[in-house]
Amino acid sequence: MEKLDPRGRKVKILATLGPASRDPDMLRRLFKAGADAFRVNMSHGDHATHAATIKAVRDLEKEFGRPIAILCDLQGPKLRVGTFKDSRAVIRHSGHFTLDRRDEPGDETRVFLPHPELFGLMQKGQRLLINDGKIRLRVIRADEDEILCSAEVGGVISDRKGVNVPDAEVPIPALTEKDRRDLAFAMSQGADWIGLSFVQRPEDLAEARKLMGGQGSLCAKIEKPSAVRRLDEILNLSDGVMVARGDLGVELEAYEVPPLQKDIVNRARLVGKPVIVATQMLESMIESPAPTRAEVSDVANAVYDGADAVMLSAETAAGEWPEEAVTMMHRIAKQVEEDDGYLARVRFLDTPPDPTTADALGHACMTIADTVPISAITVFTSSGSTARRVARERPSVPMMVLTPSMKTARRVALLWGAHPVATKDIGSFEEMIGKGKRMALRHGFGQAGGKLVVLAGVPFGTPGSTNLLHVVTLTGDELDRHRD
Ligand code: PEP
Repeated sequence: MEKLDPRGRKVKILATLGPASRDPDMLRRLFKAGADAFRVNMSHGDHATHAATIKAVRDLEKEFGRPIAILCDLQGPKLRVGTFKDSRAVIRHSGHFTLDRRDEPGDETRVFLPHPELFGLMQKGQRLLINDGKIRLRVIRADEDEILCSAEVGGVISDRKGVNVPDAEVPIPALTEKDRRDLAFAMSQGADWIGLSFVQRPEDLAEARKLMGGQGSLCAKIEKPSAVRRLDEILNLSDGVMVARGDLGVELEAYEVPPLQKDIVNRARLVGKPVIVATQMLESMIESPAPTRAEVSDVANAVYDGADAVMLSAETAAGEWPEEAVTMMHRIAKQVEEDDGYLARVRFLDTPPDPTTADALGHACMTIADTVPISAITVFTSSGSTARRVARERPSVPMMVLTPSMKTARRVALLWGAHPVATKDIGSFEEMIGKGKRMALRHGFGQAGGKLVVLAGVPFGTPGSTNLLHVVTLTGDELDRHRD
């Protein structure tokens, strides 16, 4: 088994896979460069290709003995226009343009809109944004058959371009037929996380949850203003969230996104659920081996915000410099985390413990590590919940998450500061201490003379029983013949 040093950073890197990166050799390079988790984008590609990609990630996991999270991102009910006679047309600035129900190729005056839900819903004055907001239409008149708009900003429109309707809550479920098939596929492949796109309301999460059958974790992508308005309810029903800045920056003004990013990150942190900051982080690296200064600052600021993970999209899925993009993200994150002011900034958000034993002990882990030199916090957990509560405190040292559940180990690979290790269950206090010490030495989280905080629950293996905190000193000779 090839040995890989600990990452030396707390924030995680989620890299999207695609034609530029799904070949096993490139995948290995991305992993070695710093990718902790991989995203499979169900908007592109077929199931056979995704199955091969997922298998390659699992092979990598075995090769390095390190659990890796796989997030399968469902396309969701993305609205799109129909097609055009010449595959494209030009909408004139200040001209009129109609979206209608006639399933015929469009031209510079009209196009088919294959979403009956929008007719009778759109109202005068509301906006329709096409092709990532490049074309901006405002409704002049709308009825059951036609939506007549004036083009505030015109431009080239082509076949099946995306449509955003930021001013309306569309009465369509968050899961399309394709999403249902993709979700069933993702579950059959053992996906650790499911990304749910275009969540509008808390109820949208219920159906996905039901279809997931108790497997995997659910990440709600926050990309609609209606989801922002009901964020706390959505957070309550999800296992994590993504600040999906691509569509969010179309549905809202782009300059509204930075304060929202901070707000979403904070609110997710308050409830102890992982939050991913996504999209256009190192966008110019799709074509260039070096990012812009502004992109570097953007990644750095997401790390300073205290996000659990930062994401690469087309940079790694389809770009020319996938490995360089991961390496760059890793370096930026490390640089920020080495800044003396980093922890103070992250902890600017007060996350007072809930009145539970687990939270009191999680908080104690943080204060112990701030008070005495500790090399790592070792958390024994079956569901991962204790690890999330400790991560919520943003401790100064890394957290080893020891769990008998491979599913839990993979899932926490997206969690701030967590280094997952899948290992056999423990049955006694002595076994716990022995294993905690061995694992710290084996995984590079301590050396002779160093101290470790060990957190667990008795009876062992019982979820929700966190009640035991112990500080131990490593002697260095714990690395015995044990096979864990
Ligand atoms: C986004 O819109 O930022 C996003 C992550 O979604 P997708 O890339 O699936 O469109």
